[in-house]
Amino acid sequence: MRQKKCIIIGAGIGGMAAAVRLATKGHHVVVLEKNYRPGGKIGEIKRDGFRFDTGPSLFTLPYLVDELLNLGNTHDASYFSYQKLKTVCRYFYEDGTQINAYENPLEFAEEIALRTGEPKDAVLNYLSIAQQRYEATSDLFIFNPLNKALKVYKDLDPEKLKPLLKVNPLQTMHSENKKHFRSPQVIQLFDRYATYNGSSPFMASSMLNMISHLEHNSGAFFPDKGMHSIVEAVYKKAINSGVNFLFNTEVKDLKIKNNQILSVHTNQGDFDADLFISDVDVNTFYRKPAARLKAPKSVKNPSLSSSALIFYWGMDRTFPDLDLHNILFSGNYREEFNALFKTRELYHDPTVYLFISSKIVKSDAPEGKENWFVMINVPPSGDRDWMELKEIARKYIIEKIKRVLKTDPTPYILFEEVATPHSIQEFTGSFKGALYGNNSNSIWSAFLRHKNQSSRYKNLFFTGGSVHPGGGIPLCLASASIVEKEIEKI
Ligand code: FAD
Repeated sequence: MRQKKCIIIGAGIGGMAAAVRLATKGHHVVVLEKNYRPGGKIGEIKRDGFRFDTGPSLFTLPYLVDELLNLGNTHDASYFSYQKLKTVCRYFYEDGTQINAYENPLEFAEEIALRTGEPKDAVLNYLSIAQQRYEATSDLFIFNPLNKALKVYKDLDPEKLKPLLKVNPLQTMHSENKKHFRSPQVIQLFDRYATYNGSSPFMASSMLNMISHLEHNSGAFFPDKGMHSIVEAVYKKAINSGVNFLFNTEVKDLKIKNNQILSVHTNQGDFDADLFISDVDVNTFYRKPAARLKAPKSVKNPSLSSSALIFYWGMDRTFPDLDLHNILFSGNYREEFNALFKTRELYHDPTVYLFISSKIVKSDAPEGKENWFVMINVPPSGDRDWMELKEIARKYIIEKIKRVLKTDPTPYILFEEVATPHSIQEFTGSFKGALYGNNSNSIWSAFLRHKNQSSRYKNLFFTGGSVHPGGGIPLCLASASIVEKEIEKI
């Protein structure tokens, strides 16, 4: 194929992965990024000897990063390393129950049996079903364009597809989990996987119960230098592959003729190209730089995924009872999700996620101290005033920590930084601060996600967490590889 001039709008992980792939194929690639740095939602804060990953913290399918770093002739995988976690997460419940979610399925099942009385075979059987579902659907729904699903489906081994016949997609994740388990704690633990794409277990299809496979069979990992080292490695790879990045360059408009994008207009001037790839949250893309394009229905009336409110606390001591990932569960998960997706309010007893990267990356906090990332899910509400709301949420969170961990964290907080739906929206361009674009609360969600190539503007492509196949680092990497395949065909 002749060398093409490609413009990528946005240096999030999806945009950078697409840049690496296209540059490796010999195309001329320029990335236009409105911020002063790459990474989008994968950010970091450094303050007073502490370092915080500000966005993603759960890292699965690391081979997708390796694959990207190993493309072409530059061998750039050596500066990125990671380890497999023995304990995926430590779960804490209001009634005092604690569960260590070991990565090894048998150890995990035994731990659950010990802590809750749930038979270990029920857990093993559940994880095996999750694995079969993942293996049956990943080629259909993750690693190929959605419009090619039928073709891929025809080529798949019918034996592999059999597990899908047992799924009732009309059933919610929660109703299916209730059939598998008796213990409310175990049901809640597996319901939680709905939040991995910002959805509700009381609304999302049971098909999504396969997500637990990624952590408990395939494994949860953590980069040796923290999550932001993924950005550093991919950025370096892009530079080594010849990609040109222009920062502080915001795309404001597109010039179109005969269903072709001709150029983009930015605060730094106009740029023309043969191909344009947007890594901008698709709900923002059609409202801002591409406001003159006709937006699909799923964008006009989006059902957004949840957002987050995060406190980054430099803590003046260590907490040996906590692990890298910790969840302090709400006493009433159904009410919490109602508040997130129906009444759209802050919930007084939120599930608190506590992530402490210094448990693994010792240099992330000074000796004897810890870096706490304290997050609750909140409705996508970047347009609200968070000054007052964050104070209320902070009180709920501290009460929760006191009740569940029997410790008042307040005297140990040396300093605080905060991310709100508003700041997430402003910095990363995600519509209303939604973390994963649209949610998966309907059984049609997977089919309604925006495609990776525009059906009208043939030289316009889409990558990143708000389009097919979905949100989260692995799926963004998959979207970039789909874009590469689509471009190869033209
Ligand atoms: P984004 O990160 O959305 O970046 C888009 C880029 O486009 C930004 O840099 C933005 O500045 C730029 N841009 C926007 N508009 C313009 C414009 N007009 N002109 C030029 N540039 C523009 N994923 C996981 O896998 N595990 C997790 O544990 C996890 N937790 C998360 C926690 C939080 C708090 C957040 C915010 C996200 C989390 N995610 C997680 C999701 C994951 O971070 C995202 O799915 C992924 O990083 C999105 O990448 P992207 O390619 O869509 O680009």
